[in-house]
Amino acid sequence: MFTDGDVIIVGGGPAGLTAAISLVRRAPRLRERVVVLEGATYPREKYCAGAVGGRGDQILRTLDASPNVPCAPIDGISLKVEGGEVAARVGGIGRVVRRIEFDHALAKLARAAGVRLVEGTRVTDVITRPKGARVETAHGALDAAIVIGADGVGSTVRKAMGLTRGAWRAQVLEVDTPPVASDRERAFIHFDASDRRYPGYSWDFPTVFHGDELVCRGVYHLRMGDEVVDIQALLAERLAAIGLDLAKCKNKRYAERGFELDGELGRGPILLIGEAAGIDPITGEGIAQAIEYGDLVARFLCEHRERGAPLHTWTERLRGSRLGRDLLVRTHAIPAFYAAARPRVERFLLRNEHALRLGCQHFGGLPIERVRLAKLAAQGAVALAAEGLSRAFGERR
Ligand SMILES: Cc1cc2nc3c(=O)[nH]c(=O)nc-3n(C[C@H](O)[C@H](O)[C@H](O)COP(=O)(O)OP(=O)(O)OC[C@H]3O[C@@H](n4cnc5c(N)ncnc54)[C@H](O)[C@@H]3O)c2cc1C
Repeated sequence: MFTDGDVIIVGGGPAGLTAAISLVRRAPRLRERVVVLEGATYPREKYCAGAVGGRGDQILRTLDASPNVPCAPIDGISLKVEGGEVAARVGGIGRVVRRIEFDHALAKLARAAGVRLVEGTRVTDVITRPKGARVETAHGALDAAIVIGADGVGSTVRKAMGLTRGAWRAQVLEVDTPPVASDRERAFIHFDASDRRYPGYSWDFPTVFHGDELVCRGVYHLRMGDEVVDIQALLAERLAAIGLDLAKCKNKRYAERGFELDGELGRGPILLIGEAAGIDPITGEGIAQAIEYGDLVARFLCEHRERGAPLHTWTERLRGSRLGRDLLVRTHAIPAFYAAARPRVERFLLRNEHALRLGCQHFGGLPIERVRLAKLAAQGAVALAAEGLSRAFGERR
């Protein structure tokens, strides 16, 4: 199966390139029959802080496609909340890369693996046909049996499928600055969720740019309703507090799309992956997820090819996968992190440093003992319920 133009992947970011590499590795007959259409020309910039969770790199290593690029290693995570700060040191859980280098290196690995990568070709529309779909570009149309939309937050493929932009959108602004004396330990990625004026957080991640050790700092605001949040003012305020001037930095502003609980991710021969489908709405982490999406869709298409798994089951397949369950849990947890329960969750995180340690292990793709996870979940439920009860009693008295 899969003849007639076979597979066209729209978008050559981590999701699209991983899908392409995984497809040709798993089904070598598809070499030169998987086409990635990328609108830009590598090396191309993608505004992103570049923290790649180790679980993403693990997948790329199994595909023999790990980009060898300059990076800052991640050996732990620290989190500041209103009532204090907590940190967990777990070595080798990821690395911070520059996307301009990482994606370019991944694109070269895809070509070497036998993927047809066509740069400078923006897709303008995708039209479903009786068999497969037609992909329109500025340079003409191409037919394919299957089209994968991996074209990120502004996905043209998603629009062509008639889907909405999604319920969870975030606005993000980042800059690269020199380190300052008050920075935390360099091998940690640092999150500051102590500002209750908005649902979201600010961050400081180590980064290496042209050999210089810099710090990528930014603000992530998850839109929960109609609240007006000026992330530029928030970042300017944060930078001023450590003696830096936002006006002197290159401002990199972009949007993100969170995963939806009941979102549709496939229609006929068109499947969505990566940020076109939706990533973690709480943190905006999306690189490792994009890689996971890419590998999963390749496995799904091999099941379709070999055992006839129907294409319309892609959404279900994703939801039943480890990635899908992870995204569902995170989406369900939005109110706990950013709405009424936020203070209680923060207090729980401060009291239970194991929680952040488990977060590190998950980010890094390290084994997590189920018993420990279940225990923590139970402790969390009890603590939140107990606090809720005592508050309710307190309010009644
Ligand atoms: C400021 C910021 C900081 C972030 N920091 C982190 C972080 O530290 N760690 C993390 O894990 N995630 C981070 N993210 C999220 C992460 O960048 C994305 O989730 C991730 O890049 C998604 O990968 P993707 O392959 O799905 O899409 P993308 O990386 O967006 O790739 C999509 C590709 O499709 C191409 N394209 C788009 N439209 C078309 C078209 N019509 N035709 C052809 N090609 C097209 C684009 O040029 C691009 O190459 C951050 C996001 C932002 C905005």
